[in-house]
Amino acid sequence: MSLRMISDVLKPRDVSTHCAQCGRAFARVPSDEEHIFPKWLQHHHNLWTRRLNIPNFIGKRYDSVKLVICQRCNNKTYGALETRLSPVLTDDDSFAAAAHIDADDLAAWLGKIFWLLIRKSHSVVDFRTRDLPEPDRIVPNDVMPGTLYLGMIQRAFATNKGMVSCYAGDPAFPEFFYAEPYSLYRFRIDPADSRFEAFDFFDNPAILGVGFRTGTLGVICLFDGGLHRRFRGQMWDFLAGHALHPVQFAEVAARTFYDNTVLHDDAMRVTYYWNKELNAVVSQLHTRRNFDPYLAEKHDPARLAAFIGRHTFSDPKQILQADGRTVSCLRDKNGDFLPFAVTEEEIKAARADPDQIVFGPLDTDWRTNPDGNESNQ
Ligand SMILES: [Zn+2]
Repeated sequence: MSLRMISDVLKPRDVSTHCAQCGRAFARVPSDEEHIFPKWLQHHHNLWTRRLNIPNFIGKRYDSVKLVICQRCNNKTYGALETRLSPVLTDDDSFAAAAHIDADDLAAWLGKIFWLLIRKSHSVVDFRTRDLPEPDRIVPNDVMPGTLYLGMIQRAFATNKGMVSCYAGDPAFPEFFYAEPYSLYRFRIDPADSRFEAFDFFDNPAILGVGFRTGTLGVICLFDGGLHRRFRGQMWDFLAGHALHPVQFAEVAARTFYDNTVLHDDAMRVTYYWNKELNAVVSQLHTRRNFDPYLAEKHDPARLAAFIGRHTFSDPKQILQADGRTVSCLRDKNGDFLPFAVTEEEIKAARADPDQIVFGPLDTDWRTNPDGNESNQ
């Protein structure tokens, strides 16, 4: 039964005929059109008339990004999840409110938005390629196989099953070694800079990473078999106890996403098994537990600068130093947390300090707050 589920996910059906979450055919079950960004979230952040700025949906209005899914997924499975999450994610202090929320819930919910965006955008022809003999999709065909890992997690959740991750060569009774199939990080956000909205969402289907910011909570999640958490999880330890400016959160996301571009090829390959006792899909990575798959020889400073530039809306040429280092708004010269310069005085002081690099001037591409002050215009 569930081996069939695995092969079904690996051959995704058309989103116009089958539920993208549970895989059931609309011919057999009732379905509804759903807002990919839930209405309560759009309402809380006044997103109705706003346009997405994530690469695969630039210029589309939030309230127009919809997909039909079955009623059981919409109302029951994911409905119960949203009943738990919506009061937390719209709380005045969402970071504190989310303290009791399980990472599994956040990963399933963010993963659902991300997966539906991928499926939706793969179903739409990219207008930039419409005149080519074979127009491509907004999410290109060659990116799709890598996204099926997220599809598998979503399918398992939608059908009341689990998914766990393990490594090549794990012992024969690996239950002790099973771990979450994702790397999820939460950060406290400082919402004081009124030039920035209290909401942000961005994703990268090629490296299967998603980021989300609501009020004082920022979440970054990679659907990577838990690799980043295991081998790079300590890289953000120095941020604990600090509240990040929205630009700093964007830099954290950029650096985290970039890491997935230096992975050993085998770390991006998995074999799926069905474990009946656990009622779970087991995804086994093709690298071993003690092998660090983040390869120094794949590091490319220009690519890292491009990631940071894209996420912080800065010029990559200003981020890449002549000696190959990239500037950061996260650390001071001692490697400690660097408070973000917000006021004119702070920016002036930061510019006068040869060890500090100031991002900016902030580009208007930022989803800036129309009700905030105009000092960034
Ligand atoms: Zn469904």
